[in-house]
Amino acid sequence: MLTDHHTHLRPDDDPLDEEALSIETIVPHVAAAMDQGLEAVAITEHVYRFRAVKPAWAHEYWQAQTEWDIDAYWEALSEAKAIGFPLLVGIECDWLPDGQDVLVEALRGRPWDLILGSIHWVDEGAVDYDLYSAFDHIDSEALWRGYVDRYTRAAMSGQFDVMTHSDLPKSFGPLPSPTTLNWSYDTIADALAEAGVCVEISTAGLRKAAQDLYPSQVLLERCCERGVPIVLSSDAHVPADIGRDFDLAVEAALAAGYSEVMQIKGRDRRAVPIG
Ligand SMILES: [Zn+2]
Ligand SMILES: [Zn+2]
Repeated sequence: MLTDHHTHLRPDDDPLDEEALSIETIVPHVAAAMDQGLEAVAITEHVYRFRAVKPAWAHEYWQAQTEWDIDAYWEALSEAKAIGFPLLVGIECDWLPDGQDVLVEALRGRPWDLILGSIHWVDEGAVDYDLYSAFDHIDSEALWRGYVDRYTRAAMSGQFDVMTHSDLPKSFGPLPSPTTLNWSYDTIADALAEAGVCVEISTAGLRKAAQDLYPSQVLLERCCERGVPIVLSSDAHVPADIGRDFDLAVEAALAAGYSEVMQIKGRDRRAVPIG
């Protein structure tokens, strides 16, 4: 049985208040995972939803989003897990070139099941958010190079169990030249392999403009060649998307040469055969 390693309780701009963290929100989330025949579902809210990381970055989006209580979040999930719900207590953590120590400190001391590492920003511009789009300020060559630079540094930081949506910019603006794209794939796959970190196959890309899994088949093959372990993710923000298109993710993994996926729990991983 498979696990969905990356889901959110609510759309990103919705409050992460008491109601969002209530059992009434968590039950349909877990029920959707069980309907999909999953073994477990990880809930991985964005680290930038929480007040504890407000000092990490002065950007106005970050400042506006960091208003919820990380203790309340952690406790709500841990309680639901303790009463037997098949969920993993996780978080999706950005990697910032400055201020990362604040994020690390905010996560310290809590036994997370998994910590996802994500790059959503290049300098002051968002990779995946139109309102602050990096594509409005720099060309796609510079954007991909900046993205890959951050992605590889995040992977190598040792802070994360899984690196998320590895070729995210493809959904939000034009691709760079074939040379830069090829370099991006090799550099990302090399860093993941050297770091020994998992990469997710995320079905979220199928629901975006690229209509393609993250990572693309070419990048996935390069990860497989280098022995990078994989996990499955939906990046669902509503229960209906949990475990969605996992059949296509498994098909892509098999086609790339994988015969197993990882299941993560307590920041430990075990291999499960596929196909
Ligand atoms: Zn993300
Ligand atoms: Zn996410």
